[in-house]
Amino acid sequence: MKNAAVLVHGGAGTGAGDAAGAGRRRRGCLAAARGGWRVLEAGGSAVEAAEAAVVILEDDPEFNAGTGSVLNRDGGVETDAAIMDGATLAAGAIGAVQGIRNPIRLARAVMEESPHVLLVTEGALAFARSRGFDLVDPQSLVVPARRERWEQSHGTVGAVVRDRGGELAAATSTGGIFGKLPGRVGDTPLIGCGTYADGVAAVSATGVGEAIIRLTLARLAAFAVERGATAQEAADQAIARLGVSGLGEAGVIVIAATGEPGFAYNSSALARAGITAAGEFVAV
Ligand code: ASP
Repeated sequence: MKNAAVLVHGGAGTGAGDAAGAGRRRRGCLAAARGGWRVLEAGGSAVEAAEAAVVILEDDPEFNAGTGSVLNRDGGVETDAAIMDGATLAAGAIGAVQGIRNPIRLARAVMEESPHVLLVTEGALAFARSRGFDLVDPQSLVVPARRERWEQSHGTVGAVVRDRGGELAAATSTGGIFGKLPGRVGDTPLIGCGTYADGVAAVSATGVGEAIIRLTLARLAAFAVERGATAQEAADQAIARLGVSGLGEAGVIVIAATGEPGFAYNSSALARAGITAAGEFVAV
């Protein structure tokens, strides 16, 4: 699988926390990268692999997406997710949606089965019902430990993939930011902000959504690749720009059409893992 690559993140964190939690994030990120890689090995597309990797992270209560999402100000869970196919620029996203176990699957359905890019709240749920999604009790996505854990505001998940055919995809999913106002939508489902893929790069971001949105951070990184930067240089440039802005902390993962990965963050940590033909890596 020359030049195929899967890169995932498990959120921009504070870098603190206990060793057991770090171990869980490490294992979770690696499991997701491997899950995406298996899809590519079986001949799957970048979109399929990105979705598969994100589903694994959504189902892992360690991360702030799907099961284990953070609580909003009223103690509820509202999730945001987006997926983008770099080959076609098709994109699907959902915002502030309650009661969907795997928001990234619903985002993909928006991309493939609706004429729209972004559906929110009740309309997104009605669409989900019409597409045969099971709606679950929103409280079933709440993990009790989430109420006390130090990383309450961290653990958004994402994946960027370059498949065997050279096509790119990006997917991101989150419960948002702890204590957010009901109805708040972050960067994750906004194309070009938390998620972007085109023919030259795929990018997924995590961190302070209100900062990422203002800089359209994912598009900024993809555009750097378009202008000749490597994936690593593009990630560095996007995060440097964020640092100069003083708007907040974030991290990005980037894959270029060459399959070469890059990542950067100005938060004190970025949980991540990747698989390329050269091997695996993981860091939290
Ligand atoms: N970017 C996410 C949001 O603002 C949160 C995160 O990545 O931790 O919704």
